[in-house]
Amino acid sequence: MAEQRRKAEEEAEAARVWAALVATARRTVTDGLVVGTSGNVSARVGDLVLVTPSGVPYDRLAPDDITGVDLDGRQVLGTLGPTSELPMHLAVYRTTDARAVVHTHAVHATAVSTLVTELPPIHYMAGALGGRVRVAAYATYGTDELAAHMLDALADRSGCLLRNHGTITYGATLDQAYDRTAQLEWMCRLWLTASSVPGLTPSLLTEAQLEEAGARLKGYGQRG
Ligand code: 13P
Ligand code: ZN
Repeated sequence: MAEQRRKAEEEAEAARVWAALVATARRTVTDGLVVGTSGNVSARVGDLVLVTPSGVPYDRLAPDDITGVDLDGRQVLGTLGPTSELPMHLAVYRTTDARAVVHTHAVHATAVSTLVTELPPIHYMAGALGGRVRVAAYATYGTDELAAHMLDALADRSGCLLRNHGTITYGATLDQAYDRTAQLEWMCRLWLTASSVPGLTPSLLTEAQLEEAGARLKGYGQRG
């Protein structure tokens, strides 16, 4: 009986998180961070990882399409094949306390990923991602090699750029992971805008300034 109740509660929780995950994936499209079925979103519920299915438009996803894998990538929920970027999502869950991961092809962030090895520290919001945002070395999408490059770039950070590909961020909630992606895209747009004024070069923040802002951001917003 207790076992049955526990199972029912776990299923209800997974259904709630799936609804939030689909809403987040749809937002990446409506906010212009991805086009079509590019990008992917995941969220962790215990040892279960819910993920967007590969190549399925987000507006077609229904409650019954719930798709889940275990931490080794074995499918434990659903019949639609999971995202091709499973190696990146699982690598984040195995090595951090992340509860949600968002991957996009946001246009300004992807443009910056082709120009530099690190986003120049143009704004203190880099502190919200743990400091200067790195660009992971290029590898083919969906490969373990890309996941390994991503982990290198993510050291002590909650987000990075993927060379000639896009963004990846994680957080304690879907909203936090999503917000970090939106902030990262905004910072990339800011740097591209400021650095495209002929004859002028944008001022950048020092390491100390970034660290101070990062520490202060931990107490940002409303308490409780
Ligand atoms: P999926 O549709 O398999 O999630 O792939 C999209 C993507 O962004 C691959 O990098
Ligand atoms: Zn991608």
